[in-house]
Order: sequence, then structure tokens, then C-alpha cells
Amino acid sequence: MAHLRNTGAAGGFGCPCCAPSLSRRQFLCTTAAGAIASSTAVSAIATPALAQQPGRPILIKGGCVLSLDRAVGDFEAADVLVQGKTIAAVRPNIEAPNAEVIDASNTIVLPGFVDTHRHMWQGFLRNVLPDGSLDDYRTVVQRTFGAKMVPDDVYAANLLSALGAIDTGVTCVLDWSHIQNSPEHSDACIKGLADSGVRAVFAYGAGQNETGRVWEIATSKYPGDIARLRRQYFSSDDQLLTLYLAAGGTPEAVQDQFRAARDVGARITIHVGVGEGGRSAFLEKMNAAQALKSDTTYIHCCTLNDTEWKLIKDTGGTISIAGYVETLMGHGNPPTQKAIDMGIRPSLSVDVETSVPNDFFTQMRTVFSLQKNEVWARRLAGDKNPPKFLTVREVLEFATFEGARANGLERKIGTLTPGKDADLILLRTDRLNVMPFNNAVGAVVTSMGPQNVDTVLIAGKVMKREGRLVGVDMARIAKLGREAQERNYKAANVPNKRI
Ligand SMILES: [Zn+2]
Repeated sequence: MAHLRNTGAAGGFGCPCCAPSLSRRQFLCTTAAGAIASSTAVSAIATPALAQQPGRPILIKGGCVLSLDRAVGDFEAADVLVQGKTIAAVRPNIEAPNAEVIDASNTIVLPGFVDTHRHMWQGFLRNVLPDGSLDDYRTVVQRTFGAKMVPDDVYAANLLSALGAIDTGVTCVLDWSHIQNSPEHSDACIKGLADSGVRAVFAYGAGQNETGRVWEIATSKYPGDIARLRRQYFSSDDQLLTLYLAAGGTPEAVQDQFRAARDVGARITIHVGVGEGGRSAFLEKMNAAQALKSDTTYIHCCTLNDTEWKLIKDTGGTISIAGYVETLMGHGNPPTQKAIDMGIRPSLSVDVETSVPNDFFTQMRTVFSLQKNEVWARRLAGDKNPPKFLTVREVLEFATFEGARANGLERKIGTLTPGKDADLILLRTDRLNVMPFNNAVGAVVTSMGPQNVDTVLIAGKVMKREGRLVGVDMARIAKLGREAQERNYKAANVPNKRI
């Protein structure tokens, strides 16, 4: 298993056609027989100058370290020792003579961001709907483009979206994948995630068609095919990919989906409280069927009633706020303050790259400014007992640890804690947007952007170094994305124009 990780495959990825000891190169060659593998675009060999040295520990030296673990603490300057896939130590002045050193001076070292909800099958449809509402999204993205997607398309989309996530410091992302028009679509989505090397939660969802009556898709095996997916790809917990079920529909249909998930031990993610349609007391109906448990993440939650909020709290559910898209498309106000009032710490998510940038700096700043605006508005209106203002540290915790919790991975990731997997990022402080560097948490949340993301490690593997993705053939990725985009536009009968 360690060999797999060190050589770059999605560690322990349980593809049945690959023996566990296969190297990444062998993995790619072996699967090249598959219909989708001919388009594999992640190089087997890392860029020589950026490649990590196999088998050696990594010592990240002299960074300003935000562990976000109160027991470990933060440091003006400290080192992080990574052995294999694991964080071995976080403290100043670590001696590790055999280690490969990554110079972290002029950087902040912190846990990678964790996205709890992104529809990655839209990876080559970025910016297709910058001015659209939720209704437009359903018509254009789901029923026009999504309805025509073939497995090769979703492979390319997932790979693009995953590499984009890594590039911006998102080391773990939940792929909310409601494009499962056939089992082959599922295979392709999972392969796209695996080939990227990102840590991902594959949330297996329904399909897309022109009518929106997705249960009529004859080739879809949703939700029953989740049993095959569990056996074929997710039989181990010691891998970068985790299985969830993405639920949706009537209360009766969703109860069946929840059962299918729980039968195979998969956690669940579901959109609730979205716009006017979210005022149907859906969670009260689900609760009447005793279907609500702590294994579920509730997305958006903008228009839930108070009883529903209490049900989430009482059953131990987690939530995901996609603040930026919620302000754009008519979901309702991002419920950050409501969640805090209820004693629920939210996670954050990008949701749709068709309307939203793929980075987490945008997500953090959106919920931060909206929560503060809400408190200011109450104070200005004469409220004598307004809520507390959110702090930048709380927002950073939403973007990391709370994401890990909602993705069911808090024991593995989300803080820089010895024993956890080494999913971490180095953000440059010697850039014009933050220099001269002073307040670390303030710099990350207030001023930084993707241009500050210098280095990214996932399970101890260096995915990005010196501002460049490692082992990614960008020309091939661009070609793969363009071909899939043109194929999908043509199938959807939409002219592919830039102006
Ligand atoms: Zn969504």
C-alpha cells in the first residue's frame, strides 16, 4: 500500500483490475484497456525538478505553522515531519537527517482545505452560467448539458475539477455526483478522481435527462448499484477514495436511497432548504420515518424551518454551506448564523463551477462577510443582544476541520496532528497581496488567494511544489478538457462560443 502511495496512484484504490502492489505507471497501463483510459492525462512520471524522492521522509522546515489542533498549537516558526503518508511530528527544530527538506520559510503551513459538496461532473462547464438562477441551472446545466454526458465526458470533467481543487489547496473534496446515467458513468467518475490523486469522497447520485424525471433513465442503476461500487472500489478504508450516497427526490424515494446507503455502510449527503421548494418540511417527513441519523450531511439549509434545524442538531447531522452560490442563484441566505445559533459548526463547499470560482478563499470570505453583515444589520436596527461576530479563525476551521468532519474523515485529516495523514498546504507570505507578513490567520482568510498556494501534499505525496502541479501534463489535460467540452456542446446542440 505504501508503494502505491509513494508512486503516486490514489493510495489503496481498490480497482479490481489492479493488484495492490502495482505502481502508478502499471496502474495506468493496466487500465488502458478500458474505454476511458486512453484519455488518461496525468503523467506517470513527476516533473524531475519537482518530484519527491521515493521512500524518504519529508521535513517541511521553518514555516509559520497553523496546526488548527489546540493540543498541538500554532508556531511562529516550526517544522512538520512527514513519514510515508503520515504526519510524524509538528514542532520547532526537528532533526531528521534522512529527510528530504522542503523549505517553508516565507510560507504558512496549514491543513489542506476540505470541500464538502462539489458537482465535479461540471468540470469543463466552468463559467457556463455566470448570470443564471437555480431554474436556469436546472435547464442549462442539468437538462441540456448533463443529459448528454457520456462516460468519457465525466472522466474528463472529474479529472479537471479534481486537479483544479488540488491547485488551489483543496486536498479533499466531496464529489456530489448526480450524473450516474449508467454504471459506466460511475466507473469513469471514480477513475477521474483516482487519476488526479486528490482525496475524494465519491457521493453516488442519480442521473440527468432532458425532463428532470431522472428515475425514468433506463440505463441508470441508481441507487442499487452502490452495492457493486462498494465491492469494486471501496472495500478498504485505507485509501484516498471514500463512498457516500447523494440523495434526492420525494421523501419516499429518499428513504429508499438512505436504506441503500446504510445497507453498504455509506454515509449520506442531501440538498435541503433550497429556495421556495425547500419550505416543504421535508426533514420533518423524513423524521416521521425515523430516517435521520448522524451519518448525513445537509447541504444549503437556507429555507429550513426551526423544527428541521432542531432535527439536524438532535440527530447529530453535519451541514455544508455553499455561501457564494447561495447568494447568486436564489437558494436563500447562507445560514451561517442560524447554524451557530443551533450549536452546529458548518462546513463549506464550492457547489457548481458553472457559476462559482473553484477556490476556498472565496468560500471563506463569503460566509465571513455575510455573517458579519447580518450582525451589523441587527445592531443598526437596535438589537441590544446581537450574536457575536465570527472570527477569521472560526472560518478557517469551517474550511478545514469541519469539512473533514462532514466528509467523515476527521480522524484522518483536518488538522496538523501527529498520526493523521499528511494533507497540508504551504501558502506563500512573500507575495504582494500579503507582504510584509504579520497576522497568519488574518492573511489566509482576508487577503490570500490561489496565487499563494505554493505546495500541496496529500497523504504525504507532493502534489504541487513551487507553484506547479507535480506530474501533470498540462497540454494533455487541456486537450482532454477541450475535446470533452466540444463533444458535450455538440451533443447538447449548443454553439461553443467564447464571446
Ligand atoms: Zn449542489
